[in-house]
Amino acid sequence: MFRTRRDLADGREILYFDAEPVRRDAGDGRDLPAVVTRSQLRFDPLLDEWVVVAAHRQTRTFLPPADQCPLCPSRPGRPTEVPEADYQVVVFENRFPSLATDVDRDVPPAAPGNPLAELRPGSGRCEVVCFTSEHNRVFAELGPDRARLVVDVWAERTAELSTLEGVEQVFCFENHGEEIGVTLSHPHGQIYAYPFLPPRVAKVLGSVRRYRGATGRDLFADVLEAERSGPRVVAANEHWTAFVPAAARWPYEVQLFPTRRVPDLPALDDAERDALAEVYLDVLGRFAHRFDTPMPYIASWNQAPVHEGREEWWLHLQLFSLRRAPGKLKYLAGSESGMGAFITDTNPEDVADQLRAVVLP
Ligand SMILES: [Zn+2]
Repeated sequence: MFRTRRDLADGREILYFDAEPVRRDAGDGRDLPAVVTRSQLRFDPLLDEWVVVAAHRQTRTFLPPADQCPLCPSRPGRPTEVPEADYQVVVFENRFPSLATDVDRDVPPAAPGNPLAELRPGSGRCEVVCFTSEHNRVFAELGPDRARLVVDVWAERTAELSTLEGVEQVFCFENHGEEIGVTLSHPHGQIYAYPFLPPRVAKVLGSVRRYRGATGRDLFADVLEAERSGPRVVAANEHWTAFVPAAARWPYEVQLFPTRRVPDLPALDDAERDALAEVYLDVLGRFAHRFDTPMPYIASWNQAPVHEGREEWWLHLQLFSLRRAPGKLKYLAGSESGMGAFITDTNPEDVADQLRAVVLP
């Protein structure tokens, strides 16, 4: 993998990743205003969780027509976020970031009127990862070579963002499909570098520690061992297993675990990365062809925190769709949104059967 680093007109960084060396010299001639980020973290003392307040993001681009896509390569007379005329995989800092390294650091110690609601600057980083220059392609159709390049890019970005001061968690993810609120249809994902442990990671780490305290065993290892030989495996190879979790929350949910315990994507070896591309494309293909139209999905990498619990964590991917039937989405209503108690009307064993039965083209 070859990396070329350039600057965009407003000073943001853009990184080109190519499978073979390619000259990347195109400059960004746009007249862009400087990026201003005033995000704050606010602490919710009842939930013991941080909330990112990013009120400056209201003006961000919303579903532009395809001929105005800011993630397509630039053409003469139509500059985009990517100055080059073509690219393989490209990463750049989000123009409307929720978290940024140059965020306004001058924040009061607490929210107005509540000293328990501690404030911190929203420092961190938000990056966009474009998987291909082809506007109408989707990840499921990238092919093994490009998918492997994306895996290498996720790993490279995780390693680099982990070195930023104050970053506690690097989160690679993809929101796919308009039905779940994607504002740009060009195939892309995002990477957030958070300055705190996100609630899901903190909660899972707590479960792993309690289980070890009670049994002396590794919770991740025991879950994976059970699922690998259970009725909910959807796809597997030597290095990875994709299964519907026994207590899936979403109508369609698959978790993807490596056979060997590694804390994060950078720790995967060559064979594991190739095997990941293979099994991930297989599972995405099943999501795409389960119904007449591709399912919207969220792909969410659960990596070890940057500093804490690295020896205890087991890298895994959570892939889920909110679609429960053609034309029907699961909405997070009273029980889920109000109480955080999920009620699902799909049976996980049936979902695994259905995904296994999908005939891939
Ligand atoms: Zn595009």
